[in-house]
Amino acid sequence: MSDKVLAAVRTAARTTELREFARPELGPDAALLKVEVAGICGTDVKMYDSPPFEAPVIMGHENVGVVAEAGPGFLERHRLALGDRVFVEHYVGCYNCEWCRAGQYQHCEATDWRTNPDARRYGYTPCTNLGTLWGGFSEYLYLPWNAVLHKVPEGVDAELAGLVTPLSNGIEWALVAAGVGYGSTVLIQGPGQQGLSQVVACKEVGARRIIVTGTTRDRARLDLALALGADHVVDIATEDPLDRVRKLTGGAGVDVVLDCTSRAGTGPVLLGVDALKRRGGTIVVQGELAAFPDFPIKKVTEKAITIKSARGHSYRSCELALEQLASGRYPLERLSTHRFTLSEVDHAIRTLGGETDEKDVIHVSLLPGSES
Ligand SMILES: [Zn+2]
Ligand SMILES: [Zn+2]
Repeated sequence: MSDKVLAAVRTAARTTELREFARPELGPDAALLKVEVAGICGTDVKMYDSPPFEAPVIMGHENVGVVAEAGPGFLERHRLALGDRVFVEHYVGCYNCEWCRAGQYQHCEATDWRTNPDARRYGYTPCTNLGTLWGGFSEYLYLPWNAVLHKVPEGVDAELAGLVTPLSNGIEWALVAAGVGYGSTVLIQGPGQQGLSQVVACKEVGARRIIVTGTTRDRARLDLALALGADHVVDIATEDPLDRVRKLTGGAGVDVVLDCTSRAGTGPVLLGVDALKRRGGTIVVQGELAAFPDFPIKKVTEKAITIKSARGHSYRSCELALEQLASGRYPLERLSTHRFTLSEVDHAIRTLGGETDEKDVIHVSLLPGSES
């Protein structure tokens, strides 16, 4: 094993440098993961465009790989052996606060970079911290004792396991946050990896009617939405989406709206509020906007709408996502459309952001081992 590790480091906004680091020293409770796949999502596009910190960061927060080197305490604690393939959650909780004790380590302040400058979270924590390799755009990833790992089942390859993050978010947002279940009617806005994952989660629990919106350039994604179980797709560039939703629901509107759009302004929330049923619907929002001018608070109150925040995933939703991938019940492998090497990180992120000539992009995988 080489004592050097190659990683792609974000050194400034929209700037990546390949750097060589010394292989981190491992204590008895730590390990190194050989990264097979680091998934890229919309968050990477935003963070690359406007980094939250100036310090150098190895991005990559959706990581799958094999345990390459580990202290004995680490293997015992995690019940793993060298060579095991795992999915690594990006949260690194403290296991001693009220959130962690409640099993909700995704809310732990030790992993919340927004309020804690010393937080540990894969893809966010600067490489100047102990362990150095805090992101998946690297040959190896540092695993401290409190990394949250999920063993990948037999038959699920690394690239498919790279879909755990969007799929677990789908399960968490649609089923846990919004309560989609048997007989629900659902409007999913945005047919990217996140929206398509919500389709699968909603279908799996028996939603009666799943409607997915997109634009004309999303044609391939909308076709995939239908293949994954959506009942109807709506091209908002050529059709009035509110009109379609009303017609498709016999004038009633939907029970649940899931906003999975990216950089679409206030439109999706406004459409969602109108598309929800007369009383008591639920909308899951993503807080992309710093402010929301003319927010229709009166309509929201009069329709008794519940607004929920899309907030990551839980341990259980990751386990369910892995089971779903292993079942082969949906053609989820069709989400994996593009793969790039470590030296192509900049191009890979911009591809997901729609800035390159690559066509029909859904999920972009970075394969750090593929050129060494
Ligand atoms: Zn992500
Ligand atoms: Zn904690």
